[in-house]
Amino acid sequence: MALIESLEAALGQLTLIVGLDEAVIAGPPRAGEAIDIPPDPDAIRDHVRFDEQGGYRPLSGLRNLPGGWQARFTSLETFSAAIDAVYPLAQRHAAQFEAGTLQVTSLDEVFARQTGRYRVAADLSARGREAARGLLCGACVRTPVWAVGGGVPPGGIPCPEPCSILLALCREAALWQSDPPCPSPADPDVPFANFEEPGNQLREAYLRATGVAREQ
Ligand code: SF4
Repeated sequence: MALIESLEAALGQLTLIVGLDEAVIAGPPRAGEAIDIPPDPDAIRDHVRFDEQGGYRPLSGLRNLPGGWQARFTSLETFSAAIDAVYPLAQRHAAQFEAGTLQVTSLDEVFARQTGRYRVAADLSARGREAARGLLCGACVRTPVWAVGGGVPPGGIPCPEPCSILLALCREAALWQSDPPCPSPADPDVPFANFEEPGNQLREAYLRATGVAREQ
């Protein structure tokens, strides 16, 4: 019988390799030789906090992990903790999804528990909710099983509940319904989750997709 020397799997944008003597986490490929990061979950968390252009990543699942790095582990416990540092709760949610025990919360349920400034998010139309989900979740490696049900693609990570960034986008979009802003050119220098700021890429994409922007 042939001996399997290593197992390789994708998780989001990571490649995970478990061999007989060591386990490896590798970031997305990039030209040139990969740099080695110490096998320390904190060091890895710090490394993936920013994208390749130095922009802060406010959402762990965003498809803009820096590339060209790897970390080698001799402890499977530390290996697992390092995966959690990149994609918090992904392993647990994947296992629960597989076992059919993942607790899923809908967008309506998340809206219903809001108070204060996020309460208005519930006023967002069905079309607006769909556009916000499509744009934001489309930029994320997690699969929003709270919205789409069904399966998760290989290497995918089930997302059981709308995240705070989606809630923030829905809040702004609900306000735009009654007070449509003017469209602006998309500006990659505007931080990813600053939806109130003209030029924010998701804001401008949403205004274009839904046609709610005010005529100039
Ligand atoms: S709600 Fe969408 S964007 Fe937010 S974590 Fe889940 S899949 Fe990603």
